Amino acid sequence: MTRGQIANVDLIKQVNCAAVYRLIDSQGPISRVKIAELSHLAAASVTKITRTLIECGLIREMAHQASTGGRRAISLTTVTHAFHLVSVKLGREELQLCLYSLDGQVLARQIHAFPQQPQAALLDALIAHIGDFIAEQRQHQALTLVAIALTMPGLTDAVHGQVVYHPSFPLVDVPLARLLKEALGLPVFIGNDIRTQALAEHYFGASRDCLDSVLVSVRHGVGAGIITEGRIFRSLGRDVAEIGHIRVDALGDRCHCGNFGCLETMVADAALLKQAGRMLEQGFDSLLKRQPLTMASLCQAALDGDRLARDVLGRAAEYLGQALAIMVNLFNPQKILIAGELCAADSLLFPLIGKAIAHQSLPSFHRDLPIVKARFQDEQTIGGLALVKRALLEGELLQLIIESR
Ligand SMILES: [Zn+2]
Repeated sequence: MTRGQIANVDLIKQVNCAAVYRLIDSQGPISRVKIAELSHLAAASVTKITRTLIECGLIREMAHQASTGGRRAISLTTVTHAFHLVSVKLGREELQLCLYSLDGQVLARQIHAFPQQPQAALLDALIAHIGDFIAEQRQHQALTLVAIALTMPGLTDAVHGQVVYHPSFPLVDVPLARLLKEALGLPVFIGNDIRTQALAEHYFGASRDCLDSVLVSVRHGVGAGIITEGRIFRSLGRDVAEIGHIRVDALGDRCHCGNFGCLETMVADAALLKQAGRMLEQGFDSLLKRQPLTMASLCQAALDGDRLARDVLGRAAEYLGQALAIMVNLFNPQKILIAGELCAADSLLFPLIGKAIAHQSLPSFHRDLPIVKARFQDEQTIGGLALVKRALLEGELLQLIIESR
């Protein structure tokens, strides 16, 4: 055999192994016979693969009463609580670290201020924080750490493990996955925070029931994640969906991207508070005169019928609908998810967004299109859990775990 052929044999093994693991993950408890039937693999291959997965502790056998009655049948199910990962979110000014078990349980969480610093110092600080966190957690409990996941705003290249650009820190084309792996000795997976949240919603949250969805997140910035056929939409290895830079108002403010009237400049939290503040200064009567102006008070005032708050949120819904209609026309999602503090006014906002989408997209695409709150509104590290889950399901991490035993 040539080297290329050997590599192919390994790849086929990895692909088959991942196919079996995916079936057990999505349909378990499931019998070996059923796995062979659904995967089109030979029974002997299924027996061999499942033996390896059992030896590695990734799946286990369980006996249950067969539906046809008679003797007890043996089925297979995944074991996820025994494996752990560290999910790191490098935000705009802070670093969040979370220890998860693979079944999604949060075992520990830390938040650190993360100041602006030159690239070399920043990388050292990042590695030190993660290393200290792991050492500290190991003192409290026995861990089987299988990976580190790192998510952040900006552009990331998941295929090459690179940060293409981060909006707050001097990280441009940095092979961060490799650098962290060398320093910390664990596989590292990298992704954009909003795109990986969309994947987390698909695996564990509000879009579990469909393969095609769009999530839009409105906070400091405005971002989106597109899931098509159960995967994050990608271009050139990068997870993309820059909905925040769709122009929605030609006369709008200048955006940090250099253009004018981008969605982000019109509906990000700071933009909405600025619009409300300006109207208050102009003397509009409002419930907001008597309380601090925050996203929470703005949403509550709108729900209480306040004209000013309803004006501001109504305009935001119009702009969001305008940009989302483009997504609907291009990607025909089965569900739209919204994340952000403005979801506090969902009963008012979502029907308006739906109306705006309906006016600007194909009827067969927007008919019965649900607009719902994202499940993970505050769990900023959830995207990292999704990245690790993906690496398991697609075989890359599965193979590393098998090889390390
Ligand atoms: Zn822009």
